[in-house]
Amino acid sequence: MANLRLVNLGKRFEDVQAIKGLNLEIEDSELMVMLGPTGAGKTTTLRSVAGLEHPEEGEIFIDEVKVNELPPAERDVAFVFQNYSLYPRYRVFENMASPLRARGMPNDEIQRIVKQTAVVLHIDHLLDRRPINLSGGEMQRVAIGRALVRKPKIFLMDEPLSNLDAKLREEMRTELKRLQKDIKATFFYVTPDQAEALSMADRIAVLCHGEIQQVDIPSEIYNHPRNMFIADFVGSPGMNFVDCLYEKKNMLNIGPNLFTLAIPESQRDKITEEATNSELVFGIRPEDISLSKEKRANYIEARMDVMESMGSINIVSLKLGGYVLKAKTDPDFEVRPGDALWADFDKEKIHIFDKTTQRAIV
Ligand code: ADP
Ligand code: MG
Repeated sequence: MANLRLVNLGKRFEDVQAIKGLNLEIEDSELMVMLGPTGAGKTTTLRSVAGLEHPEEGEIFIDEVKVNELPPAERDVAFVFQNYSLYPRYRVFENMASPLRARGMPNDEIQRIVKQTAVVLHIDHLLDRRPINLSGGEMQRVAIGRALVRKPKIFLMDEPLSNLDAKLREEMRTELKRLQKDIKATFFYVTPDQAEALSMADRIAVLCHGEIQQVDIPSEIYNHPRNMFIADFVGSPGMNFVDCLYEKKNMLNIGPNLFTLAIPESQRDKITEEATNSELVFGIRPEDISLSKEKRANYIEARMDVMESMGSINIVSLKLGGYVLKAKTDPDFEVRPGDALWADFDKEKIHIFDKTTQRAIV
């Protein structure tokens, strides 16, 4: 296994700058998830590492060896694609054995490695089947198995679970993470699914428009998003935003003119002179809003708009001035559209962004 280092990587397709100034370090045995929406540049990044694209700018190091000029076969990385790309005419065994055959490995050793890997992936009973007779989850495992047998320095995984149904996707993400830890592999895994990223990653690199927005452990990405894009993209539903202005004595005028809120004492030193003169945005996560059906001291009056029942929680949309905010409640919290509601915000969990730069201040 190995580490991977991307330095100032840039790749352009005619008029599209797919990735730019990309810096990222993935440690040995780390599961790094690159999270970003469609078109962010995730596939381009992985393909560049694999040697399938040639970035005009920057450097790629695998185990501190620069690989920019090396052909794909000499980089010792394995790519698992979203669409599996199995050989339809080969049985599972031959699909998994093909990278080893290509290396000229003796047959008995191939037998041993493929069987051993199939056991790890719980597909040893499928070795005689052809891909057409496999379910999506099984095909997925075969594709991973074909990568595993090679024992590459780095696994590159491009949305490997996207084609699976929701239930299986959740199961597979747990299994993949367990597997990655068991074999101490270095994984560079990309996905547009924030829940997948939060649940699997050792660290997450958030990518948008070809640029890395933040690299951190999942809890930091969730609790301290560096800008409004991350705050919105990570979390389901994403963070609520309301315009606001700084008002003297560490108060925020939210709306403006809907209500005021004190900036928590612990955060006050982050409010610069510049921030006090800027247009700001107040941010709060749905779980950091408490609702009451009765009027309460210091609670803000709002109106119920829509309620979505999620089983273990309800998501209540409430109207406040011209804004719609989403709050998470207990499943037994029942209200009807149009009902008056009172909302309170967890003071220690508030976020403040600069409206112009979209960057987090608090
Ligand atoms: P992601 O995998 O995050 O969805 P991609 O890396 O596939 O993003 O694409 C990033 C950007 O580069 C997109 O705007 C995409 O249209 C463009 N792009 C990717 N591959 C090509 C290509 N071969 N030719 C032209 N544009 C491309
Ligand atoms: Mg892609």
